[in-house]
Amino acid sequence: MMAQDLYRLIYLSNNEITGDATIIQQEIRQILTISRQRNAEVGITGALMFNKNCFAQVLEGPHDQLQETFERIQCDPRHSNVIILNFESMQTRHFSQWSMAYVSQEAADSAQFARIQRDSGFDPNQLTGERIYDLLHVHLQAAEKNNSNQVY
Ligand code: FAD
Repeated sequence: MMAQDLYRLIYLSNNEITGDATIIQQEIRQILTISRQRNAEVGITGALMFNKNCFAQVLEGPHDQLQETFERIQCDPRHSNVIILNFESMQTRHFSQWSMAYVSQEAADSAQFARIQRDSGFDPNQLTGERIYDLLHVHLQAAEKNNSNQVY
């Protein structure tokens, strides 16, 4: 794959999954299972962050596959108000090991995210795409190094 063909897209959306913690967890599991399978098939990598109110997701991959994947994601009734924060070409993948890494609220609440919380009250609407990208990346690298089970 040509390096210049790579793009990344960062969006925020509102969670529309309702129910108790078990139901929400099941839905997230389903989203991650299908995402990992489909993304691996088309060369998409990235990370998904979830808290009770919103999703933030970074997707990276070849332009056409990224667009197709995002068009499907956008239509998904499990979230709404999808806002693109960033869409641009890039040289190198930052999430190459993950067909879709997951950072839960628990993980997001951990030490590495203390700064986001302080800055934004964990309101991703206060964050720029760049910042979400950096924070997810730094967090996932640290979690992988510590062999943390908070990323799955
Ligand atoms: P089908 O499975 O044929 O479903 C048809 C329609 O129903 C679609 O609109 C689908 O979105 C919706 N749907 C499917 N399951 C449910 C359900 N349990 N409850 C309500 N509606 C449902 N997919 C990826 O491939 N890669 C990703 O990185 C990715 N990230 C996602 C992030 C978020 C926050 C969400 C909410 C979804 C994500 N998905 C991702 C899932 C994506 O939206 C599609 O559901 C999935 O790709 C399957 O697409 P399909 O057209 O085959 O849908």
